[in-house]
Amino acid sequence: MSRLAEARTYDLDALRDRVLAEPGGSVNESIPQLAAADPDLCGLALVLADGTVRTSARADAAVSVQSAVKPFLFALALLDTGGRALDEIGIEPTGEAFDAIKLETGTGRPPNPMVNAGALLTAALVDGGDVDGRDERILCGLSAFAGQELEVDEDVARSEHLLGDRNHALAHLMRAEGTLAVSADDAVAVYARACAVLVDARTLAVMGATLACGGVNPITGRRVVPTEVARDVVSVMATCGVYDGSGRWMRSVGVPAKSSVSGGIVLSAPGLLGGAVLSPPLDEQGTSVRGRIACETLSADLDLHVFGSHAA
Ligand code: GLU
Repeated sequence: MSRLAEARTYDLDALRDRVLAEPGGSVNESIPQLAAADPDLCGLALVLADGTVRTSARADAAVSVQSAVKPFLFALALLDTGGRALDEIGIEPTGEAFDAIKLETGTGRPPNPMVNAGALLTAALVDGGDVDGRDERILCGLSAFAGQELEVDEDVARSEHLLGDRNHALAHLMRAEGTLAVSADDAVAVYARACAVLVDARTLAVMGATLACGGVNPITGRRVVPTEVARDVVSVMATCGVYDGSGRWMRSVGVPAKSSVSGGIVLSAPGLLGGAVLSPPLDEQGTSVRGRIACETLSADLDLHVFGSHAA
């Protein structure tokens, strides 16, 4: 059976039951709304290149997208700058935590778009003129990836803006280096709102599938970004998407992905499918514990590893 045919009949509820039994990890406590997350929330979804949608129970439970938004911010920044974003942000993995107070040696650029420094900058590079304009542009762009109108959790956005001291520090550091053109507070405000967009597993899987399908949303059929932009974004997800756990992820799962502190993981298996798992308890690198196990299992069962020896 082809990999797509296998995915069409895959039992996501059985996988959900299996990973729900996995203990370990703890929910992120950086803001009250994340600290209050239900540790037993677990939703999974797959969206195939032909538009087939497969979901488990709780695939419609929403959380704030947090860092799973970063690939899509990068995509929008590449689109709106005509590729100039690639001059302003590095694309090398850091081997460090997502919020390390560190810029690229010699250039003062953020090391890559998947860590916070890089995402603060990509959110500042999108079109829009001012904070409200960029907020609107980002929400509209993310909604095109999702194929539906997305919303911001305003309480989460406020908490992120108020309590994100390390993000403020990173924005000020980029100002000092001359790599951030907007004010530090404006940069944090826009990034905080982007992190506060609400998604469920199904929505996030559609977004991942849009990248996996070269920038075309497989549900709406609408082109959201050019093929080259999708390829650039998925490449950087593969090398940097799981922070200082990216190497281990590439070996054990082998599918470009982005983790987030709300417990979401978005997957983009090029040409095949997008996927998402939401489960709040995290490991040391900020990756969902159950999400990792689910992705390892999906990758093995559906032969998704990009370096696997797939049947022709
Ligand atoms: N909003 C979080 C922060 O900026 C995102 C981090 C993550 O999801 O890894 O710290």
